[in-house]
Amino acid sequence: MISRRGALIAGGTGAALVAGGAGVAYKVATGDKPEPVSPPSVDGRGKVLWRNWSGVQHAYPAARLAPKDEAELATALKTAQAPIRPVGAGHSFTALAPTDGTLLSLDAMSGVAGWEGDEAVVRTGTRLGALGPLLAQKGRALPNLPDINKQSLGGALGTATHGTGTKIRALHGDVTALRLVTPSGKVIDADETKNAEVFQAARVSLGALGVITQVRIKTSANRRLRRRVWLESFEEALAKAEGRWATHRNFELYAVPFTGLAVNISHDETDDPAQPRGPEQDTQFLEALRGLRNLLGFATPLRKAAAHALLASTPPETAVDEGWKLLSTERPVRFNEMEFHLPVEHQLAALAEVVRTIEKERPDVFFPIEVRRIAPDDAWLSPFQGGPRGSVAVHAYYRDDFSFLYQLVEPIFRRYDGRPHWGKLHSLNGGQLEAIYPRWKDFLAVRRDLDPEGRMLNPYLKGLFGLT
Ligand SMILES: Cc1cc2nc3c(=O)[nH]c(=O)nc-3n(C[C@H](O)[C@H](O)[C@H](O)COP(=O)(O)OP(=O)(O)OC[C@H]3O[C@@H](n4cnc5c(N)ncnc54)[C@H](O)[C@@H]3O)c2cc1C
Repeated sequence: MISRRGALIAGGTGAALVAGGAGVAYKVATGDKPEPVSPPSVDGRGKVLWRNWSGVQHAYPAARLAPKDEAELATALKTAQAPIRPVGAGHSFTALAPTDGTLLSLDAMSGVAGWEGDEAVVRTGTRLGALGPLLAQKGRALPNLPDINKQSLGGALGTATHGTGTKIRALHGDVTALRLVTPSGKVIDADETKNAEVFQAARVSLGALGVITQVRIKTSANRRLRRRVWLESFEEALAKAEGRWATHRNFELYAVPFTGLAVNISHDETDDPAQPRGPEQDTQFLEALRGLRNLLGFATPLRKAAAHALLASTPPETAVDEGWKLLSTERPVRFNEMEFHLPVEHQLAALAEVVRTIEKERPDVFFPIEVRRIAPDDAWLSPFQGGPRGSVAVHAYYRDDFSFLYQLVEPIFRRYDGRPHWGKLHSLNGGQLEAIYPRWKDFLAVRRDLDPEGRMLNPYLKGLFGLT
């Protein structure tokens, strides 16, 4: 009898035995996999290993630089060994940062440089988590935050990082001016009227045009928000999602495959007194789901029934605090991820199809699927350009095979006209991107102009831009 989450977690190897020993038809083993093998910490040239957060990308850069100011940065960009790749917190899943040339960190160029009215001028090496308290000193906040706040501002802007909220843009959508140092060491200040083409190209630019040292970004009043987290059936969550996006400041849902359940999360402004969030519960929830997968992955109906018995009565969680303390959470359990941004009218149909497909084909998957809304903006490489988008993000535990993301999930997203998150796994090439980004060629022209020798391009970016 399953009575406690602990029992499930302890029951780790069950399904592997059943699947193997009893000859059950699933091709995919659902027990725990071993730790992925780590690459050597030093390569043959004595260069030290760099890895991204999930461990799926790595490199042995010949040089690592952390310039202290724009003059040092300009010299580095002109003289350092190419490919030169800016890196923030290394939280992207795609091969944007890896280089055997120079890895350039902006960590030493951080903090708030000044204010222009309610717009803050922020150095891009600033981590989002550090920016919260700096803006709060002035009674201001970023209008929104992503799931976590470990990213650097430069890295977050570079891949069009977003949170959720029908009326709230991705972070780059609130940038009103930026300063770019190009690979030739030239400093360009750009906004909607001055160097406007550079502005539109650089707001989301994958670190391919040079290094953005600072941006001017809109802020909003640092209001308290009420956070609510609650479980319900997946059908009910699907039926009510549009209404919730229309009424809540921030709303997202997580479809939990193989459970028939969804987790809803809303945030709304309030003047109620602070009631800080309790300890992080992500790990315990995921451990329960992993235990269910390990124990009952061989039989979906049994797994669903057990999930209901175990999870459906989980009490709602509520908290009240300033937005910068609530909107991001900890994500201690590592994963690999694919996220596409879909026209909103297709979002829930695509989600339902992804859940059905995973439940049919991949009993090893247990991570919840994240579903968000983002308001439009007009940056040339913004996935949200041309209209609002609804994102669907599928995660795979870091020890698990994630080939299903490409084989099963990406074709669904593409059929529904999705655009990939630049920092998350996808297989689109230059031709395919050109078809879904009306200003793709304009971006490539600005890139050619600013970096004719391709000093910023690693093999991944060359492939993406069709330059190989
Ligand atoms: C646990 C986790 C949770 C996440 N949650 C979300 C989420 O809720 N929403 C979302 O949209 N994404 C999310 N992401 C993705 C993440 O926000 C992006 O991949 C983001 O780019 C990572 O920021 P970073 O500082 O690690 O940048 P990196 O991954 O280090 O770099 C990203 C890109 O930015 C470029 N870059 C960095 N600094 C500069 C600069 N100063 N000038 C020019 N280019 C620069 C780099 O060259 C690279 O191309 C998540 C990722 C993880 C691992």
